[in-house]
Parts: sequence; C-alpha cells; structure tokens
Amino acid sequence: MRIPVIAGNWKMNPPSPSEATRLALAVREVADGLPEVTTVVCPPAVFLADVRRAAGGGRLNVGAQTMHWEESGAYTGETSPTMLANLASFVIVGHSERRQYDNETDEKVGRKVASAVAHGLRPIAAVGETADERRAGATVSVIDRQVRAALAGLERIAGTGLVIAYEPVWAIGTGDAASGDDAQAVAGQIRAILRELDGDGADEVPIQYGGSCTPDNAGEYLVQPDIDGALVGGASLKADVFARILRAAAAAAADAA
Ligand code: PEP
Repeated sequence: MRIPVIAGNWKMNPPSPSEATRLALAVREVADGLPEVTTVVCPPAVFLADVRRAAGGGRLNVGAQTMHWEESGAYTGETSPTMLANLASFVIVGHSERRQYDNETDEKVGRKVASAVAHGLRPIAAVGETADERRAGATVSVIDRQVRAALAGLERIAGTGLVIAYEPVWAIGTGDAASGDDAQAVAGQIRAILRELDGDGADEVPIQYGGSCTPDNAGEYLVQPDIDGALVGGASLKADVFARILRAAAAAAADAA
C-alpha cells in the first residue's frame, strides 16, 4: 500500500512571508489530523524557512520548487541541495513551467533527480505532454523519454523516496483536467517503465496526477490503481480548498485499505 502524496505547488505565491506562514499554519492543522496522507507544501525558496518554522514538528512536509544539482558554485540565482537540507524534504524537479521558461531539459532533470536523492531529498519528478504533442499522438513517446531521462542518474529506484507527477501541460492552470481514465493510462505506462528499470522499487513510487486538480475532481484520480496523490497548483493556495483535496485522499486511502 502506497501512502498518497498530496503536494501543493504555490508557484510564485503568496506575496509575503506572513501570508505564506498563515497558509502553512492552516494546512498544517489539517495535515496533522490526516496520518493516511503525506502532505507537502512547496513555497517559493525565499519563504522556505518561514514555512518550515510554521510546519514545526508536525505532519506537514516542506518541498522546494526546484534546485540546482551542484552543491555550490557560480550559478547565480540557484539554490543547492545542501542549502535545502534543513528546510525541505521534497523538491519538485522538471515542472513544465521550468522546462518551458528556464530551459530545464530532460538531461538537467536527470541530474537534479540523482542529486536530490544523493542529498536525502525526495524528488517529485514532473513529466507530461504538451497540447501539440497530445494532438500528434505523441503522449506515450514523450512520457517514455521524460521518465527514462529523469531516472537516468539513479542506480536503483527502491529506497530513493522518488515521486513521479504526471502533469499534462495542457491541463495545468487551464481548468481542462484530464479524465481519470486518461490519467490512469499514463500512470500505468509510468509504472510499467519503473518495473522494467527496477522490479523491486517500482511499487514503492507514488505517481501523482497534476493539472487543474480540484476538490471536485480529485476523487476521480485517487481511485485509480496507479495514481497515489496529486500535485496541486491553484487549488493549493486556499487552505480550505486544499484541505478538501487532502480529505479526499484520506478517504480514498481508507477505502483502499
Ligand atoms: C502545477 O502547477 O503543478 C499545477 C498542477 O497547477 P494547477 O493545479 O493550477 O493546474
């Protein structure tokens, strides 16, 4: 049984440390009452310390939205895995916005995943096809390429804490979410690749769905056999809305037990 991982990607929000703290405290209150779910919030890097403090010793986990693979050096604007060590336990890698705006290539994603694992961080490796790729019938080949590249620097999957997020790019921030069946088809493909690469580790890996996930549609994903959580953007910025997704995950986990 995999524990569902629900992660809130706050992107470049909220605007101030006090609002970040307030949001984290409100999410923490819910997370502390839901041991069946691994709850993560991923604030902007400048708020990681505030959010870490708000999370205290409770059940709320903190994630970074990106990181460099090197420990130090001439990489202006970057954050290293060692700098994240006492601030975060998860890190999102390969989010489509970073692939699109920051030239985060498949190769860089592979380096980041390996570096995160080597530094004791759980990577949430995001993969997903664009609308054009989908129209061209290339979803399977894009997912295959991105997943293999993301895992290229790992000797094994077992014990790494790896999470994979399937996020169709056309569904992110658009309100046009994938259907549960379509998301499961891709999650099943990802699971098969994991099995091929590491038969022992494949069943450990939570596979999230991401892309316009809301309290109203979350249940549709969480009942799927290969989907174990969600990566949530817009709906993670309001604690009461995010809480409904967390509760849906707890209910799905209870039903599956
Ligand atoms: C995301 O940014 O990872 C995401 C899934 O965004 P949204 O939920 O807003 O579509």
